Amino acid sequence: MLNPISVEKFADMVMENNKGYRKKDLLRDLRNTLEEKKNGAKCMVCGAPIWAAGSAITGTNLCFTCTTGEADDSEDYEIE
Ligand SMILES: [Zn+2]
Repeated sequence: MLNPISVEKFADMVMENNKGYRKKDLLRDLRNTLEEKKNGAKCMVCGAPIWAAGSAITGTNLCFTCTTGEADDSEDYEIE
């Protein structure tokens, strides 16, 4: 299970680990993608519900496994 995290906290985490993001843009992308997920957005590859946190960063609607190539999502986060 992905660990739930607020959009704000996730944005701070991304900005700590990556240079070049503007928080305002990041928050907008995260909220938009989360909204898409709530509206039933599906992974382009396998049709599972998208991983909103990752899809917002990559700009592509993918589930956790298709984004990372890993099945174990217990050490990662999902925005809510
Ligand atoms: Zn997938």
